[in-house]
Amino acid sequence: PSTVLDKTGATPMIEQFIEIKNANPDSLLFYRMGDFYELFFDDAEIASRALGITLTKRGKHQGEDIPMCGVPMHAADDYLQKLIALGHRVAVCEQVEDPAEAKKRGAKSVVRRDVVRLVTPGTLTEDKLLEPSQSNFLMALARLKGSSDDDLFALAWIDISTGVFRVCESNGDQLSSDIFRVDPRELIVADTVFHDPKLRGLMDMLGRVAVPQPAILFDSSAAAGRIARFYDVSTVDSFGAFSRVELAAISAAIAYVEKTQIGERPPLARPEREHIGSTMFIDPATRANLELLRTLSGKREGSLFKAIDCTVTGPGARLLAERLMAPLTKTEEITQRLDTIDFLLHEPDLCEALRALLKSAPDIARALSRLALNRGGPRDLAALREGLMVSTSVQSRLDGRNLPAELDRVRETLSRLPADFLSHLQSALDEDLPLLKRDGGFCAKGYLTELDEMRALRDESRRVIAEMERALVEETSIRALKIRHNNMLGYYIEVNATHGEALIGSPEMKARFIHRQTMVNAMRFTTPELADLESKIANAAGRALTLELEIFEKLQMEAVSHADALRSAANALAVADVSVALAHLAVSQNYCRPTVDDSMAFAIEGGRHPVVEQALQRQAETPFVANDCDLSPPAGTTNGAIWLLTGPNMGGKSTFLRQNALIAILAQMGSYVPARSAQIGIVDRLFSRVGASDDLARGRSTFMVEMVETAAILNQASERALVILDEIGRGTSTFDGLSIAWATVEFLHEQNRCRSLFATHFHEMTALSQKLARLDNVTMRVKEWNGEVIFLHEIAKGAADRSYGVQVARLAGLPDAVVERARAVLHQLEEGEDSGKADKLVDDLPLFSVAETKRQQTVPQADELRVVLSSVNPDDLSPREALDALYRLKAVA
Ligand code: ADP
Repeated sequence: PSTVLDKTGATPMIEQFIEIKNANPDSLLFYRMGDFYELFFDDAEIASRALGITLTKRGKHQGEDIPMCGVPMHAADDYLQKLIALGHRVAVCEQVEDPAEAKKRGAKSVVRRDVVRLVTPGTLTEDKLLEPSQSNFLMALARLKGSSDDDLFALAWIDISTGVFRVCESNGDQLSSDIFRVDPRELIVADTVFHDPKLRGLMDMLGRVAVPQPAILFDSSAAAGRIARFYDVSTVDSFGAFSRVELAAISAAIAYVEKTQIGERPPLARPEREHIGSTMFIDPATRANLELLRTLSGKREGSLFKAIDCTVTGPGARLLAERLMAPLTKTEEITQRLDTIDFLLHEPDLCEALRALLKSAPDIARALSRLALNRGGPRDLAALREGLMVSTSVQSRLDGRNLPAELDRVRETLSRLPADFLSHLQSALDEDLPLLKRDGGFCAKGYLTELDEMRALRDESRRVIAEMERALVEETSIRALKIRHNNMLGYYIEVNATHGEALIGSPEMKARFIHRQTMVNAMRFTTPELADLESKIANAAGRALTLELEIFEKLQMEAVSHADALRSAANALAVADVSVALAHLAVSQNYCRPTVDDSMAFAIEGGRHPVVEQALQRQAETPFVANDCDLSPPAGTTNGAIWLLTGPNMGGKSTFLRQNALIAILAQMGSYVPARSAQIGIVDRLFSRVGASDDLARGRSTFMVEMVETAAILNQASERALVILDEIGRGTSTFDGLSIAWATVEFLHEQNRCRSLFATHFHEMTALSQKLARLDNVTMRVKEWNGEVIFLHEIAKGAADRSYGVQVARLAGLPDAVVERARAVLHQLEEGEDSGKADKLVDDLPLFSVAETKRQQTVPQADELRVVLSSVNPDDLSPREALDALYRLKAVA
């Protein structure tokens, strides 16, 4: 927030500015002057720096220059977008009266201005400010006052660009997971809650997304009344039974929308409740680690979403992202979605036809929202027209077929479209439409007789003027006489100065030609006929525009009155798009239908990593190696198994771990999966601790973060959970790390008893399989050849015998001398397993010296020969291979 400005001694205009600015201290103020939005004082300096526009000054205030910068109206959206993206909020201040009115109050009085809208990240509606494929949620977080442990919360989230409105209860454990599942652009929270030390961590994690608001906004006693007023109903009872804290969150979200939209009312759907536990619990760290919507570096490219998104519409992409972020936990719903894909796979023609239709489907919900907020233009009406037309075609494609439940609902919804409204739009709107309604020109000919007449008159008059000009030339014999038009004089007759003098020389002419203006070289006149014609033309054009604007208003109101039906249609099209897209994905990427049931199974045959697989395809490299994973309860047990995965770095451990988590997510969001077959007993919670994500910004070491996350997993993982742990204990000394990893696996096995994958480089841990019945050792296979490792990326039962770290180091390009030295150290360490090995090492091996480096450089061949020789296993060789090996040896000798 900028400093409060003192208005003593200000000019009337600056005084007005300061008053409005001080009422909106946390926003940059866009102050409308003519065709510009101007910014003053601190705002100007902030904006000029952020936008790279020139900082100028305008007048003085209290003896100092007033810094100013401005953005032109027509480019305002672009600048807004930039400012919002940088985390600013903008208050848009418009003139709210006719300048003529202000003049009436006195020569010095300023036009009245008011803030008409606050632009914040969570309340955007303009196409330019929004990503078509991303929802834009505003979320309100309410806490139940007086609950015993302050632990009951509710979240309400709105996308005002589409009208989606949802609510759910949450609790302390679940809260961050629920927030990050929705991924809001802006989260409002009572300042008291915002500053509660217990929520410090969460608020830090949300960063600029979290915005404190006065606690009164979240007052639950006023909630029901506010909601009823917004929806213009007498009571909210008919909305369903919401708890007190849910009502508080809903009402806070509405209050914030009212506060930012000022007088305009977006067409919000009635809030829809989501039940706790109906979606898979995925904590924020897991979401980030698995790179569901974005990679760890924040890009969409490389995320799971990008790999599976075959949708052809913005709303479809948004629905797909929403499903991906909220995999289901009820088998019936999942089965329904899978049935849809199954059906479409058997109807490739239908699929193609739907896809082609959907490609031209506009974003109905966003267009509707702009219209309702009075920010829409003719093209938004056209979007509704096209949207309804596509809907009709989609419906007729689906009609008369034996459809699976989900598509049947789509057909059913699309069969209840507002047909009158569509035909109204079709008859009223022209084909090619201007962006803005301001100048008219969007109504179709033949829609309204009076409009056609006025337009004819307007156009006709232009012809009449040309005729009048010809007649005047003849009458006055002044060939250069012209009838022109400007905004000041309207239509006028112009002749050059000498002719002008002559004209008014004769008295009869003087009576006819009324002098208007003398210029340096020209004189301007009018005649009674011209004045008459002019007013007719102006009237006709004005009347035509008024008529068009009336028509626009009528269509706009009609659109809003059909808001529910239009939104349902938009939804139905999005469902169709997602279904067709997932079928397309299944075919093009060769995915299979998973079996999702209530067992504890987790049996993947030939599973692949959806993102890595596509990356390999693009690079046309070696194809992805498919791998099985079976964590189903071993015979005679009821709980899932743990796989302890060892193997060299770069062997494919992380890829394997992640791919199984991703397959679970895909299956439960109702998609086919990258595998030959998959049976998955519902996973209710998914945890993954993969790789080291530093959190140094918050002052925690890598190791600390790892332990905090591991603790959260061990405390929260239920029997139905799927836990993926990668290299726990890496961030500390070997013995510490091993002990922690060891104890963690034991705890997972004995206490959490959930399906788990655990990758480690501590080979000692493989001994655990003797003790833990449901633990199996697996390893990523490698082959050694010519002293080099070849990664097979293939999972096999058993434990890795070596770590091949030295070989990997060599691949990475470590100097040969270092690699050789490391080999020697390793050898020593492996020989002397007993105590004091480090001491012995220092004794036995001379320090790495320049002399040794030299020696290595002079006789490297001898070592290489040995390396190649050691890789030859005579028992395994065919005669031909033996001969080849001999040639190789010869080559390095
Ligand atoms: P680790 O975790 O064992 O160090 P990664 O999982 O990071 O290994 O894999 C290393 C590289 O190997 C990856 O970049 C990937 O390109 C490749 N890779 C991993 N798994 C496979 C596989 N199943 N098929 C083909 N290539 C793979």
